This record gives sequence, C-alpha cells and structure tokens, in this order.
Amino acid sequence: MSRSKIVIIGAGVAGLTCARALANAGYAPLVLEKGRGVGGRISTRRAQNGMTFDHGAQYFTAKSNEFRLFIEKIERSGGAAVWDDGSNLKRFVGTPGMNALAKHLAADLDVQTGLEVDHIAECSSGWEIKAGNREFECEKLIVTAPAPQTAKLIGKDHTLYETVSGAVLAPCLTLMAAFEPNQPQPFISRREPDDILSWIALDSSKPGRSADNCWVAQAGPKWSAERLEQDLPDVARDLLILLCDRIGADISSAFHAVAHRWRYANVVTPIGSPFLRNENDNLFLGGDWCLKGRIEAAWASGNAIAERVLEAG
Ligand SMILES: Cc1cc2nc3c(=O)[nH]c(=O)nc-3n(C[C@H](O)[C@H](O)[C@H](O)COP(=O)(O)OP(=O)(O)OC[C@H]3O[C@@H](n4cnc5c(N)ncnc54)[C@H](O)[C@@H]3O)c2cc1C
Repeated sequence: MSRSKIVIIGAGVAGLTCARALANAGYAPLVLEKGRGVGGRISTRRAQNGMTFDHGAQYFTAKSNEFRLFIEKIERSGGAAVWDDGSNLKRFVGTPGMNALAKHLAADLDVQTGLEVDHIAECSSGWEIKAGNREFECEKLIVTAPAPQTAKLIGKDHTLYETVSGAVLAPCLTLMAAFEPNQPQPFISRREPDDILSWIALDSSKPGRSADNCWVAQAGPKWSAERLEQDLPDVARDLLILLCDRIGADISSAFHAVAHRWRYANVVTPIGSPFLRNENDNLFLGGDWCLKGRIEAAWASGNAIAERVLEAG
C-alpha cells in the first residue's frame, strides 16, 4: 500500500495541470495513468522513418489571458509554435508533437503510467484506490478521466453519478496516412462538418515535424458511432478511400494507413461548471467534459480543482 496526500487519476491536460499547480504550491501529488505515456487525448503516434501523427487533438487556441500566458511560456521553451494552417486563425500546436504540451506539464511530477485504476472507495482517512494488484491510499482524490469512465469509477450509488452521467462525449474514428512525395497537397487543413471526413489536416505541415505528406483525417460523430466496433484495419481502409478522394491522391501511393478509435473524443454536452466535488471535500471530478471539448477547457478545469484544494488546505 502506497500513501499520498493527493492522488490524481488521469495524466491528460486536466490531471497534469492540476498536478502541476499543486506541485508548484509545495504538494507532491501522485498521478496514476492507464496509458503508456502522458497526454490522454493530446497524443502523438510515432511510425516508421521518423513519421509522427497527432491523432488526437489537432491544435489549440487561447481564449483566456491566463491560458495565453501559459502557452507563451511553453512557446519560449520550444514546446509549442503557431501553425499556419491556412485558416487565418491563430492556432498553436505542440512541437515536435502535440504531446509536447503534456510532457512540459509532467516534467518532474510523480506520474505512474500503465496503471488502470479499477476501484476506488472512501475510507476513514480519505480514499482507497486499486489498480490491478497495486493499492494506494490518499486524503484527497482527483479523477480526471472522461465522464463515462469517471461515472463507472465512482459507481451508480454515488451522489455525483447522475450529474457526471449528464455529460455526453461523441466518438471519433481517426486515420493516419502517409503518401509518396509526388502526391497532391491541395490544402493544409479542411473542416467540413457535413462530410464523413469532418476534419482533414496535412499533419506534416505543422512546425517541427520531420516527415512529409503525412495526413490525419477524422470521421464525424455519426459515421464514427455507426462503425465504432468495426476492426481498425477495415476502418483504415474505408477512411483511406475517402481521404484519397478528398485530396486527389492515388491510393496505391499510400504507404501507411492506420486507424485509431477514440471512444470518448469530443464533448457534446458538458456539465457547465469547472469541476464537481463531494460533500466531504475530498473527491474532485474534472476534465474537459465539465466545460467544453477543448484543451483550454481541460486546463481550466484542472486549475480550478487545484485552486479549490489549495483553498481548503
Ligand atoms: C480526435 C480528437 C480531436 C480533438 N481536437 C481538438 C482540437 O483540435 N483542439 C482542442 O482544443 N481539443 C481537441 N480535442 C479535445 C482535447 O483533446 C480534450 O479536450 C483534452 O485533451 C481533454 O483533456 P482531459 O485531461 O480532460 O482528458 P483526457 O485527455 O481524456 O485525459 C484523461 C486521462 O485519464 C486516463 N484514464 C482514464 N481512465 C483511467 C483509469 N481508470 N485509470 C487511470 N487513468 C485513466 C486516460 O488514459 C487519459 O490519459 C480533440 C480530441 C480528440 C479525441
């Protein structure tokens, strides 16, 4: 059994932002993450010959002054840059990959990856947590998994279950594809909400990427929901046909086509407050699903939780 004052479940933007703020205030939070690395839905997949694909979040914008200052700090350290995607909007990306943002937040934090928390229970000293055969105990527990996973963890009988279950997240099937250099590149990015491929981006056009002609294409929520359980090689084949049609590429020139399934990708209905907490003030639930399906919202949620925890002491 390992004891910590604060345990955070999830090393996405919300969990890491919260951990960072608590660490800056002198706490030593322990972050438990089921994935192999940090970042959650800001994710960069490596492939052969130095190819990388941002197969989760594509870019981030800064609406609030606070988030803009945070991004500028990362920009100065080389972890983010403006991406000119032809949209005339100021869009930032992580460099050399979107997950640089998460790596920046996670630096020096105690993050244990490859640990899926499968059980939490309130106890006299706070919370007991189980992840496979590992057990942890803490005074305050912060859960930043997507809403359906958070609901499952707290359980149907918990007073916050109904509220958490009110958040709706849509799935997204995503294609990562690479073509021979002689193939067309008709645009940098394209958003067409009514097309099956609602988003297409020339991923290799982002600053700091080393390969060429690498594309990411996302299917819209309806198509993704209908094919969510289909085998990924079949999804990749279907999405590749569509992508070739949209960019005018010859399918035989595609030498890489891999699909990824995001079961909980984009927030359709948020709960409308930055986080939730229980009556004992020792359980906090947060993430983008509280506010909006955006990196900035996940960041705001994580910060708001940290603020509340620090206030309570
Ligand atoms: C395809 C796609 C495209 C997107 N495009 C954009 C975009 O262009 N711009 C933008 O701003 N946003 C975009 N988003 C949304 C953005 O990625 C999210 O808003 C943000 O990353 C959410 O951060 P989070 O920390 O709230 O959640 P997550 O990133 O989901 O982090 C939650 C973490 O909890 C972990 N976890 C879950 N359950 C457990 C458990 N039981 N035990 C341990 N760990 C657990 C998960 O593995 C994950 O790492 C996109 C998302 C997707 C999927």
